[in-house]
Amino acid sequence: MSKTAENQIIITGPCAVESWKQISESAKLVKNLDVPLNTRKELRAMIFKPRTTVGWDGVGQDGLPWLVAVSSALPIATEILLPEQAQNLTTDIFSLNHRAEIRLWLGARNYNHLVQEAVGQLAANYPHRISVLLKNPMYEDEIAWLGAVEHVLRFGMPHENLVLCHRGHHPNGHPNPLKLRNVPNHKYAMAIKEKTGLKMLFDPSHTAGRGVLVSTMLQEARDFPYDGLCIEAHPHPEDAKTDKDQQLSLLFLATTLDKFWFNKHDKN
Ligand code: PEP
Ligand code: MN
Repeated sequence: MSKTAENQIIITGPCAVESWKQISESAKLVKNLDVPLNTRKELRAMIFKPRTTVGWDGVGQDGLPWLVAVSSALPIATEILLPEQAQNLTTDIFSLNHRAEIRLWLGARNYNHLVQEAVGQLAANYPHRISVLLKNPMYEDEIAWLGAVEHVLRFGMPHENLVLCHRGHHPNGHPNPLKLRNVPNHKYAMAIKEKTGLKMLFDPSHTAGRGVLVSTMLQEARDFPYDGLCIEAHPHPEDAKTDKDQQLSLLFLATTLDKFWFNKHDKN
C-alpha cells in the first residue's frame, strides 16, 4: 500500500510555456485529468525559465496574457526569478482576473533572499490568492533550504500556503547506478518535512531526467508520506523546447498516476 499523505497536490503541465496553443491544450488536459477526490490540481505554467547553460529562457512577458486566460480554469504555478517579476506578474494577472490563484515558484537554481522575501511578502498580502513552492537547492544543503524557508515566511504568510518540493540532488560523483539527473534522498526530505511542519511534494521528472524512469521514481517515493507531486507533462513531448526527454505525455498522465502514485490498482 502507498504511504502517500491524503489531500494530495498535483502540479503538472509542460516544463515551459511555449505558445498559446500548447498551454491552452495543457490547461484543458490538466483540468480533465482524473484524480481522486480531495486532490488539488495546479497547472505548471512557466514563462521565465532559469537555464544552467545559455539557451531559450522562456516566452517571458509575452506569455502573461496566456497565464491570465488559463488562470480562469485552474490555479497556476509559475517560477519567477526576480522580485519585480513576482510583483509585476501578480499585479498584471490580478488586474484581469481578480479570482486567479497563483503559486509563485522558487526552483533549485533560484536561491537568493531578495526574491524569497519578495514572494513571501506577496503571499502575506494575498493569503487567499498567492501561495509559494520552494524546491531544495541543487546540492544537499539543509542550512540553505531551511534558511530560504525562513526568508519566505518572515512576513507572516500562512504556513499552509508554503509547500516544499524535493527534486533530488546533483549526483556530484556519488554512486548513481540508474544515471538519474538528480538523486533523491527521501529520508532527508521527510526529515525536512518533519522539522518545518510544511507539506512536501516530490518531483519525479527532474530526478529521473528521462521519461522511462519516472514510474520508477514514483514507485520509490510512494512509500514516503509525500503530499503530492510536481510532474512535467506536455501535450506533445516530442515537440518540447526544454526537457524533452523527461516529460510525459499529458494524454497518458492519468494512467501513470493511477498505476504508480494513487495505486487505484491495489488489490487491498
Ligand atoms: C523546474 O522545475 O522547472 C526546474 C528547472 O527544476 P529545478 O529547479 O528543480 O532544477
Ligand atoms: Mn523542466
